[in-house]
Amino acid sequence: MDADLIVVGHGLAGLVATAEAVAAGRRVALVDQESQANLGGQAFWSFGGLFFVGSPEQRLMSIKDSVELAWQDWCGTAGFDRPEDHWPRRWARAYVEFASGEKRSWLAGIGMRWFPLVGWAERGGGRAGGHGNSVPRFHVTWGTGPGVVAPFEERVRAAIATGRVVLHDRHRVEELIIESGRVAGVRGVRLTPDAAARGVASSREPVGDFELRAGAVVVTSGGIGGNHDLVRAQWPARLGTAPARMHTGVPAYVDGSMQPVVQSAGGRLINGDRMWHYVEGIENWDPIWPGHAIRILGGPSSLWLDARGRRLPAPLWLGYDTLATLKHLRQSGFDYSWVLTNRAVAGKEFALSGSEQNPDLTGRSIPAVLRRARTEVGPALQNFLDHGVDFLQADDIATLVAKMNGLAGSTLLDATAIERLVRDRDAQLGNPFAKDAQVVALHNARAYRGDRISKRAFPPHALLDPAYGPLVAVRMHVLTRKSLGGIETDLGARVLSVTGDPVPGLYAAGEAAGFGGGGVHGYAALEGSFLGGCLFSGRAAGRAAAADT
Ligand SMILES: Cc1cc2nc3c(=O)[nH]c(=O)nc-3n(C[C@H](O)[C@H](O)[C@H](O)COP(=O)(O)OP(=O)(O)OC[C@H]3O[C@@H](n4cnc5c(N)ncnc54)[C@H](O)[C@@H]3O)c2cc1C
Repeated sequence: MDADLIVVGHGLAGLVATAEAVAAGRRVALVDQESQANLGGQAFWSFGGLFFVGSPEQRLMSIKDSVELAWQDWCGTAGFDRPEDHWPRRWARAYVEFASGEKRSWLAGIGMRWFPLVGWAERGGGRAGGHGNSVPRFHVTWGTGPGVVAPFEERVRAAIATGRVVLHDRHRVEELIIESGRVAGVRGVRLTPDAAARGVASSREPVGDFELRAGAVVVTSGGIGGNHDLVRAQWPARLGTAPARMHTGVPAYVDGSMQPVVQSAGGRLINGDRMWHYVEGIENWDPIWPGHAIRILGGPSSLWLDARGRRLPAPLWLGYDTLATLKHLRQSGFDYSWVLTNRAVAGKEFALSGSEQNPDLTGRSIPAVLRRARTEVGPALQNFLDHGVDFLQADDIATLVAKMNGLAGSTLLDATAIERLVRDRDAQLGNPFAKDAQVVALHNARAYRGDRISKRAFPPHALLDPAYGPLVAVRMHVLTRKSLGGIETDLGARVLSVTGDPVPGLYAAGEAAGFGGGGVHGYAALEGSFLGGCLFSGRAAGRAAAADT
């Protein structure tokens, strides 16, 4: 035997599973198709937002939260409605309890800290029992994604130094070895060495075969977002047709290549049609991976228009209901939409997702964070305003709309109609109450101290007021990101077969397992629950596989 257990995938879930198995005294072979430069996988690039319930940060912001409210929100969002939701639903309950309890003390105990202004992601569809977070729960980790990866990477590197973990990088798994009805190892190809920097697509040229044997295998191979062919093949009809043009929100190694491998070994994949793609994708002016796009996490002030310049219906505003907006826009007949705002709002309400887009938080620099708070437009957004192909600016609507039509290569947008929309919206701002549902939502957001202090809900003002200008238009495309479905597992992270029995010796966690059970989120997510799902399911898989070997 080459190790007690093998972990396939050195992303966050794989690191957590490995660290747990080592803590239980096991020897681990950690296998990944990428080089060591990519340790931590997608989580390194992430914003580091974590879903906590009833946290000290929430209390500091006077947010009242509870496990009951979080469970109501989770169920209203997930919409579990299939027989295969049996394990996902049980994982969901366990995860919400974890996020309301042990999660924070565990992570704080290994050195993690969070930014005090709790973010309010996925504010929902307007119904108390429906989609969305009733209260802010998105806790950005101090150090963003790298800050989430660091404690686990440290543990795994320490175990590599003592020989408890052997890293087999540039090893691509293509088969699970089955002997006497039990998964006993992995086979695949060694890939040619490649010095590509972290996140940059690397060569897939094979230079030989390999085989490793162990008492159990844990699959933590991530989702499918980097593989547009798979995303298209699994795209659900309920969201319309897949866009002809999509951006990519994940590195190329998020390729779904382990899915058929697990199926061939008898594992069952469920909920493949459930996916979490964003509609606010902007082309990265400085890309790292192929088709690299950034997601704008927006606030409630900007107007969102379809390709013909029609305002999206309530409550489809930036940051409210990702999948309802995606579904609506897929019926518009175009692959893009527009946000219309001004420089002051963009500067405060647009957060850019990704560790490299937030060097102040990623670098844990208090002076830089304070500088951002005092600056009208931070350097990352300014780069997009200066170099991003999707960003347009002008002092008046007629000029802006002419530029928008120029970028789209069409004459779909009518400046007079768009100016009317903006003026109608601006006329709603004379009172602290309003008829326009989006303006009402803006007032509501400002009742939350965190949004008011950070200006994530900008003080109400006329978008056309030149003091806040120039006007800004942003063209946005769909950006592929998370796979909500995946390998079906029980609460012990054991991979299940089509008969519902565990496949002996096989475990799965992280995005590959739908963040737990084969789809802990159901149809939709509350955000911050992906990293959390990797931590929770990775830990469960590491413990269970260690106990089994
Ligand atoms: C820009 C960005 C921002 C994000 N922000 C947040 C956030 O704020 N909050 C949040 O909760 N989530 C966020 N996410 C999502 C979250 O980061 C991911 O869902 C999570 O990190 C997935 O981790 P994983 O370990 O399951 O998989 P991955 O990180 O994808 O790792 C899988 C690994 O498996 C390897 N692999 C795959 N197939 C094979 C094979 N056949 N053989 C060998 N190796 C293989 C891959 O090379 C890869 O290294 C973000 C993601 C991105 C990209």
